[in-house]
Amino acid sequence: MVVPKSEPAGFEYGTSRIGLNLGGRTYFSSSEDDFVNRLYQRSSMVEPGSLNVPRCQAAGCNANLTHAKHYHRRHKVCEFHSKAATVIAAGMTQRFCQQCSRFHLLTEFDNGKRSCRKRLADHNRRRRKTQQTDQDNKLQLHIASNSSSENLTSK
Ligand SMILES: [Zn+2]
Ligand SMILES: [Zn+2]
Repeated sequence: MVVPKSEPAGFEYGTSRIGLNLGGRTYFSSSEDDFVNRLYQRSSMVEPGSLNVPRCQAAGCNANLTHAKHYHRRHKVCEFHSKAATVIAAGMTQRFCQQCSRFHLLTEFDNGKRSCRKRLADHNRRRRKTQQTDQDNKLQLHIASNSSSENLTSK
């Protein structure tokens, strides 16, 4: 039988070396902590300088928008939160209005809409002129019940 020669001996030698190394490392551990702390401080010191980086306004998001679309950079909202049904921004539950390109409180919106009621009213008023009020009311109800879910899922 042929057994690989030196393996057991080499192995033991290796482990004892590691043991020695570990013993040596405890000696340095305090200065290693300093080093880590310094790294940490340095990276947190970068933050004030990055104030110009556009970030999403949504609480807890803070997405870096440097490489986002111009629209999202300009309005400080990431793509996700510009389409989200509810977003916590400035400590309030809000939604991004696609007409005004800013956040409004949810009370500004009809259910599921992504444009505020004021803008939609303007929009509807313009369309309404030629239609009879009776027909228009039915149409409104129909649109409202249909689009509340569509608005959130489409694109
Ligand atoms: Zn966001
Ligand atoms: Zn609006």
